[in-house]
Amino acid sequence: MEQPPHVLIFPLPMQGPLNATLKLAELLCLSGLHITFLLTDHIHARLLRHSNILTRIQSYPSFRIRTIPDGLPENHPRGGDSYLELFESLRTKTPPLFKQLLQSGTPISCVIADGVLGFTFDVANEIGIPIFDVRTLSPACLWIFFSLPNLIHSRELPFEGGDLDVMVKGVSGMERYLRRRDLPSFCRSGDLDNPSIRFYQTETIHNPRACGLILNTFEELDAPILSEMRSICPNIYTIGPLHAHLKAKLAAASSPLPAFSNSLWEEDRSCLTWLDSQPLKSVLYVSFGSLAIVNKDQLMEFWHGLVNSGQRFLWVMRPDSAVGESRIPVELSQGTKERGYIVGWAPQEEVLAHPAVGGFLTHSGWNSMLESIHEGVPMICWPYFVDQQINSRLVEEEWKLGFDMKDICDRSVIEERIRNVMEKRKDELSKSVDHMANLAKRSLSEGGSSYSHLERLIQDIKTRVD
Ligand code: UDP
Repeated sequence: MEQPPHVLIFPLPMQGPLNATLKLAELLCLSGLHITFLLTDHIHARLLRHSNILTRIQSYPSFRIRTIPDGLPENHPRGGDSYLELFESLRTKTPPLFKQLLQSGTPISCVIADGVLGFTFDVANEIGIPIFDVRTLSPACLWIFFSLPNLIHSRELPFEGGDLDVMVKGVSGMERYLRRRDLPSFCRSGDLDNPSIRFYQTETIHNPRACGLILNTFEELDAPILSEMRSICPNIYTIGPLHAHLKAKLAAASSPLPAFSNSLWEEDRSCLTWLDSQPLKSVLYVSFGSLAIVNKDQLMEFWHGLVNSGQRFLWVMRPDSAVGESRIPVELSQGTKERGYIVGWAPQEEVLAHPAVGGFLTHSGWNSMLESIHEGVPMICWPYFVDQQINSRLVEEEWKLGFDMKDICDRSVIEERIRNVMEKRKDELSKSVDHMANLAKRSLSEGGSSYSHLERLIQDIKTRVD
């Protein structure tokens, strides 16, 4: 009997990309493809400690995990702003291992790799294995990366300090709303030699080498940007929001698989019980994702803003997310005890889907945003880096799904935005968030855009390897 295609998926070894690509892997497994999921040893060890990944993949006879070292010392932080060191280590140390892996064991018929891992395209092309590019950041940011050479050519980059409200014209399709402050934060360095600017300048290099580009979004959300992108990258598969896509497929198959957890930290599920006892849409969920780091002053501004807003809140304070002292300030202890609940890591998808949650104070990471959009939860955005600056701009200016608090970390502003989302402008926001949530859900149902793009992706993988 003919073997189904065997796809090797190589994600970026970080929480957000991992969440999205594990969902993609399960979706492909459910369609009968065989999957090898490639993890770094570091991520693998953390997943084994904190997630239920082993139980999950055992439910699929055709899903296995392989591991490789990331080349960094064990005590390297691998978080915050050190992501380029991780990429660089993978780029310089992994190619021979990756090649060996593709050429040994059960033959690999197709690769899906994050475009940041450029060497995977070299290796796959060299040995003649079809490769698809997967990106788990926002299409808007990817489009800005694609446009970096234009911005440099038009002398809109570099800039340093000065007026961050100057409009940027060199990213086609975004002329109406893009300001300097909405570009990825590394653009503010004033230096074309900035490692991130150098790193992301060649983003379009893989387009001709890849069979297609897989994005975690849905057409109805990102239509104008996707149409720009298709002018230089015609074969795009928009199959998101991936977390909800997988849930929809599992529900359709009445699958008994256990609940998801791909967490690199221990999930504190007690917050779900706490949420159960809170009134409908009364809780503001606060999380800055897996990489962002806040300093002590910022932490205090958020804490005062939250308590002063008088709203209930559930706050994820990752053990490594705050620099300096983060003990509860005396003047805030009563308000925190009465209305707040703090955990080190939450089962976020379940939290955002909980009826008690009425708003989300987020760093605007792309996975978090898609999870919020799908559940119809309005957002207050406080972007940290990479795609988050443009994501938060889109939330307020284009999608009307919440507020952008970019570059402001002031307790009175935080308090006011929270009151707006949870009380004053709740009704106005709920119209647009409900509308977008419905579009997201529709895209995943039979005949919907993401549903159809996934079918096409699976078909294209099968055709490529025939
Ligand atoms: N997340 C989680 N629990 C938390 C905080 C975050 O499960 O307490 C998940 C969240 O659901 C999302 C991912 O971690 O899928 C974070 O990815 P995102 O792209 O939002 O931000 P990043 O961490 O990459 O900055």
